[in-house]
Amino acid sequence: MLSSQTIALLPDYIANQIAAGEVVQRPESIIKELVENALDAGADSILVIAHKAGKQAIHVIDNGSGMSKEDVLLSIQRHATSKIKTSQDLEKISTLGFRGEALASIAAIAHLEIKTKRKDAEHGWSLTAEPLQELSLEPCMTEIGTQVIVKNMFFNVPARKKFLKSDMVEFRHISETMYRSALGHPKCRFTFYDGDTLVFDVPVSSLHDRIKHLYGKEVSEGLLPIHNESSEVLITGFVGLPHLAKQSRAGQHFFMNQRPIISRSLAHAVFQPFEHLIEKNAHPFFIVNLTIDPNKVDVNVHPQKHEVKFEYERGIYNAIHQAVTSALSKAHIIPEMQFREHIASQPFERLSISTHRDGSNGNTSYVNRMTGEIIHASENRQEALPITNQHRTAFEHLFGAEQELLIPTEHTVPAVQKEFGSMWQLHAKYIFIQNIDGVMIVDQHAAHERIIYEKSLKALNQQAVQGQTLLFPIPIELLPEDLLIFNQLREEFEKLGFRFSENGNGISVTSVPFDIMAGTEHLALQEIISQYREYEEVRAHGSRDNIAASMGCKAAIKAGHILSDNEMKSLIHDLFACDMPGVCPHGRPIILEMQLREFDRRFGRTS
Ligand code: ADP
Ligand code: MG
Repeated sequence: MLSSQTIALLPDYIANQIAAGEVVQRPESIIKELVENALDAGADSILVIAHKAGKQAIHVIDNGSGMSKEDVLLSIQRHATSKIKTSQDLEKISTLGFRGEALASIAAIAHLEIKTKRKDAEHGWSLTAEPLQELSLEPCMTEIGTQVIVKNMFFNVPARKKFLKSDMVEFRHISETMYRSALGHPKCRFTFYDGDTLVFDVPVSSLHDRIKHLYGKEVSEGLLPIHNESSEVLITGFVGLPHLAKQSRAGQHFFMNQRPIISRSLAHAVFQPFEHLIEKNAHPFFIVNLTIDPNKVDVNVHPQKHEVKFEYERGIYNAIHQAVTSALSKAHIIPEMQFREHIASQPFERLSISTHRDGSNGNTSYVNRMTGEIIHASENRQEALPITNQHRTAFEHLFGAEQELLIPTEHTVPAVQKEFGSMWQLHAKYIFIQNIDGVMIVDQHAAHERIIYEKSLKALNQQAVQGQTLLFPIPIELLPEDLLIFNQLREEFEKLGFRFSENGNGISVTSVPFDIMAGTEHLALQEIISQYREYEEVRAHGSRDNIAASMGCKAAIKAGHILSDNEMKSLIHDLFACDMPGVCPHGRPIILEMQLREFDRRFGRTS
């Protein structure tokens, strides 16, 4: 017999599991929710321990209000919250939580234990919950406040568990969230452990000192306070001096009424005043706090609550822009319109083959980092690669606009490599070489980049090469999250010829690759680490390639470097020993050719 009713209400535990999918994606989301709850409960000291990147267990202890017996029972019900009561409340949210979903969602996918005690209570309550099991609630002795322990996350949702990344990646997410929480709440002490290793323990302080405790003295000494106040918004916080700008966005933090938010458009409001002070692909360091009437923003846009809608987005953009501009001009940081070799030399970033899903098999893609434009190039048609406008202009300037630029293909290059005629250097930048039917022009920086790139790639694919031992080891300072990446890449660095030693308070470089220029060891490492951090997700498969390209770019001779005849010869010799001398690791051409008959044509000679 068929029942006429086919729609049924989902049992609670399934509904909770579905809701959990939105709220809890990874160990980091649990930590974020638990820390928010602790802050909402008025805690001024929060301890967080992540065991095995939170996959095994998460422990969060606060000294906040604690819960009564009735409240702790209710707290794990879905849509149970003490934070809003009416829909009017929803329009002016001042707490971090309000959806009443977090604890219920966690209880649907993990073992949850809560120990809690209110200030005036004789004893506390210990609640243990497991999906589909009877709750247990017992009196217990515990400190005032709340402890939450979450174990075996996703044990009953194997499909989701499978999607968790390596411990290193999951821990990095947690660490970013912990840094963010600590920055957003300097009036709360945060203690953060990775298993039994202390990551940081930062006391109650001003925002300035909080930044110092988390990022160190160098960063804290490079901060400019920002301030702007209007009837709509109060803006406070700090921006870092241009030299603190990084290749990744890791040093960028917005808080709206103490809630971390993400906004590309507001980030641009900070970036714009820095535009001529930092490289195009660098991101200024900032911590910007917005204080806005809760009635004028909607935080209920997303279950994870980090996206918000502003009523006066344009006004807020302008206020931030204004605050940053005035901080920079007060500090007399005059825009220096400097030509930055670095960006100009690598506007194109190679994307790993596996990232595009458009079926263009076997092709390499490049992204123009200045415009975001994606360029697909076929591996065997390197000559089709983009010539930057800069190059075009340079050559038009030299040879006139209609000159056809001939970029050698892979098969034409080896033909000319045998015998080089005389060579000379133009403006300490380009090398001109006479060849059988004209002249070849080589970009010295790009050429050296290609040479080091191929050497590095070979070194990475074979066993470790010998580096040059430093007389005095150079200590390198790494943030905890960079340290994780460093450890992951360490083997590769060693293959390149780096050697390291560990001592009580950090890591020192004891040996560097032969190609690297003295004094740049630290920079090269930092750069590779931060590029890796920024692009890892997109280019995980190309990480080797990526390290090699970064090495090449950092260590290569720059334009402006005058070369001796011998240096020029050996550079050109090494270039033609490369597998692909025609194109630099970033996709730019290295060599241009001009033919004699073209000169003849232009001089009106018929040969
Ligand atoms: P929300 O934070 O959105 O209200 P949660 O599921 O995170 O939803 O928490 C439910 C309720 O449990 C909260 O409203 C609060 O009353 C109580 N609660 C949760 N964590 C704590 C804590 N650490 N201290 C005190 N009360 C808490
Ligand atoms: Mg909450």
